[in-house]
Amino acid sequence: MTSIWWLRRDLRLDDNPALVVAAAEGEVLPLFVRDPQLAHLGKARRSRLEASLASLDASTGGALVIRSGDPGTTVAAVAREAGARSVHVTGEFTPYARRRDREVAERLGLDGVAMHSSGTPYAVRPGTVVTGQGTPYKVFTPFGKAWRDQAVAAPVTQPAALRWSRTITGERLDRELLDAASRWEPAGEQAALERWRTFLDSSLADYADGRDRPDLAGTSGLSTHLKYGEIHPRTLLRDLALVGDAQRVGAHSFVNELAWREFYADVLWHRPASAWHDLRELSGMDFDEGPGVDELVEAWCEGRTGFPFVDAGMRQLQQTGWMHNRLRMVTASFLVKDLHVRWQVGARHFLIQLLDADIASNNHGWQWVAGTGTDAAPYFRVFNPVTQGKRLDPRGDFVRRWVPELAHLEGAAAHEPWRHAEGYVHGYCRRILDHSEERREALERYSHARRSME
Ligand SMILES: Cc1cc2nc3c(=O)[nH]c(=O)nc-3n(C[C@H](O)[C@H](O)[C@H](O)COP(=O)(O)OP(=O)(O)OC[C@H]3O[C@@H](n4cnc5c(N)ncnc54)[C@H](O)[C@@H]3O)c2cc1C
Repeated sequence: MTSIWWLRRDLRLDDNPALVVAAAEGEVLPLFVRDPQLAHLGKARRSRLEASLASLDASTGGALVIRSGDPGTTVAAVAREAGARSVHVTGEFTPYARRRDREVAERLGLDGVAMHSSGTPYAVRPGTVVTGQGTPYKVFTPFGKAWRDQAVAAPVTQPAALRWSRTITGERLDRELLDAASRWEPAGEQAALERWRTFLDSSLADYADGRDRPDLAGTSGLSTHLKYGEIHPRTLLRDLALVGDAQRVGAHSFVNELAWREFYADVLWHRPASAWHDLRELSGMDFDEGPGVDELVEAWCEGRTGFPFVDAGMRQLQQTGWMHNRLRMVTASFLVKDLHVRWQVGARHFLIQLLDADIASNNHGWQWVAGTGTDAAPYFRVFNPVTQGKRLDPRGDFVRRWVPELAHLEGAAAHEPWRHAEGYVHGYCRRILDHSEERREALERYSHARRSME
């Protein structure tokens, strides 16, 4: 019997419960549906997805079937053509995916085809880590503790005898998107594993300190692989449990970061509206908008604020589709607290630009910065883009790398071109605002706003 393995963001063969269950039924038909919703993603993300599909197609020996259309109609049509009675998926948790999966399951049900969900993109299924009273955790630290106790499942092994169904055909991979993807880091399961092994060998031992330094390759760079499910957190947790003494502190810190990813997915599961609305509303908060502000936001998007650390981060994003975590915090703080713009504006820009764009981590990361999210009391924290830069990029290497107009300034001087006679000789832009003034302004606005206790 043929069953359909409908892939979405679980593009790997190893450690994939949905594939294991599908394979136990006989031949497997791997299907990817080009949902019209994908058109809303930027070209960067679509090209990265295409590269991941190409990699998966290669590892199935060309068995991947790609079809375009509304997911319900398309999956039902493929099931009919292939004579399949079941469709297997990995569970998904964003508000859109939950709605879509409900609708597709109903549509398939009309034809007597069952949709089965096995596994999730997380070590622990969102919604299952709860307090003793059975309620969701609202803050990270106790969630993280309880989550660690539950995040113990071992990776599942790839079925020994996978038989791919080749009964029906689909669309070709998109050559133009694949060409566009050549500017990104390699995609796919193999690339994810290689990156993970390199990180384990070279950076894990120093991760606890190195993770904050954008000038060093201190982090794993796995977020895009995790986003597309090219590697699963179970595999990472298994390897981390086996490290020696020298890496134990780094491993603990890395598990903590994975827990943040799971925490935000859990929060979004319980509070789907928090994707685009304040989790804890700041009532009476005053934001700036209008044509004058649009120009400033454009300068922020393009890395032309005149603050070297902010501009370096925004240009890293523009050119690589990825930005270091510290820079995400500093650039987000700049938009919300120096430009006084709603967090949703920045979140939307990040979702278009980031290859690892994830609505839970991104939109809750933005809310963390804006002071509307899960964190206890950070709304009065305003990142100083200059002191942050001098502390975390002490030699100015990160700034010089992404802002070539400052390449002539040595060491930390790159963080403060205004202090040097030749600071602007290569055309770097002047600061678009006075940070201390805007910080005062932000604190005043925040002190007038009232945060709800929920
Ligand atoms: C404003 C803002 C927006 C963000 N948007 C996204 C996003 O769209 N997608 C995304 O995956 N992460 C997002 N993050 C979290 C974090 O910045 C990235 O996960 C991290 O920079 C990815 O790089 P890495 O894989 O080298 O991280 P590492 O330091 O190697 O961490 C390992 C993994 O842990 C997880 N992780 C690490 N830090 C966080 C965090 N703060 N929150 C949630 N998960 C974390 C990621 O899955 C990451 O791949 C955002 C953070 C902020 C402040």
